[in-house]
Amino acid sequence: MIRFFAAASIDGTTVVHDPAVGSNHLPPQPVPLGRVALDERQVAAWPEADPARLRPSAPLSMCWSPIVRCNLACPHCLDDKTVRESTSTERQALAGHIAVSGVLGVDISGGEPLLLGDLPHLARAIREHGRAVVSCTTNGWHLARRAEELTGAIDAVRVSLDGATEATHNTWRGEESFQRAVTGIRGAVRTGLRVQLQMVLMRSTHHEAQALLDLAAQLGAGGVTFLQMLPIGDGASIAAEQMLTDDQARDTFSALDIPDGIRVRLRTRGSADGFTVLRADGYAWRNTGGATAITAFIPVTGPQDLRLPTVRSGS
Ligand code: SF4
Repeated sequence: MIRFFAAASIDGTTVVHDPAVGSNHLPPQPVPLGRVALDERQVAAWPEADPARLRPSAPLSMCWSPIVRCNLACPHCLDDKTVRESTSTERQALAGHIAVSGVLGVDISGGEPLLLGDLPHLARAIREHGRAVVSCTTNGWHLARRAEELTGAIDAVRVSLDGATEATHNTWRGEESFQRAVTGIRGAVRTGLRVQLQMVLMRSTHHEAQALLDLAAQLGAGGVTFLQMLPIGDGASIAAEQMLTDDQARDTFSALDIPDGIRVRLRTRGSADGFTVLRADGYAWRNTGGATAITAFIPVTGPQDLRLPTVRSGS
């Protein structure tokens, strides 16, 4: 599949960011810089970059949560629902700051970003005024309805599934949520959007990791990213009972039989260390301590605030 990636030169090293998988690669041959159309299989074969060794001046990728509202109420949610949401005008300004900050990949998350009427507008503002590629992470409930308007505005959509079966997923996300997500994935694939499934690995769900890969292949999704649970937000109260160690997650991951053409990635807690998040109220934080805590919040009033002085790496 030919799709858009973001390429930049960092201290003389070319880095290519994948908006679907969230990975960073080192191309062995020259590629044009900026937003660049590349063959996904070719990029997947390139070695992964270690952001800590590159020491970029801005994070390679970041998450922007312009909304805290959500149509679901998951017990493992990371979000602080008491945070003020920026106005539409403030969101536009933040999109402009992100666009010129030097970041390569922006994942618009939430809350549930598909509840935002101006989501395509925000994504376009980031893409058109900078070099970044844009993805969006959704629970999938409204994806079928909005897939068409998102095509052409975002470069990939990441859909959260907590298991490969209706019973497991709905236990965490609520009734109907599995069926709505699957319908959304089918709709997005039909419109030509690159879909990546995302599964938070937990003690009670990780046994469905293989079945989720098989489901991805069956639905026409391009891959699955497995994320280690973070003990932040509501998730903190169930972390002791549900969190796997990074070694246990690696064991689950290495036992997978990967269907042809499916891109997989494991994001351990360790690798989420240093990741930058921009909250709905326009304040930024960074994951610290192996992504078990966060730094103080910094108000983002311009692109310079995303080049946080202490930010030495991105993921
Ligand atoms: S985990 Fe995602 S879908 Fe669930 S409540 Fe939080 S934002 Fe909503």
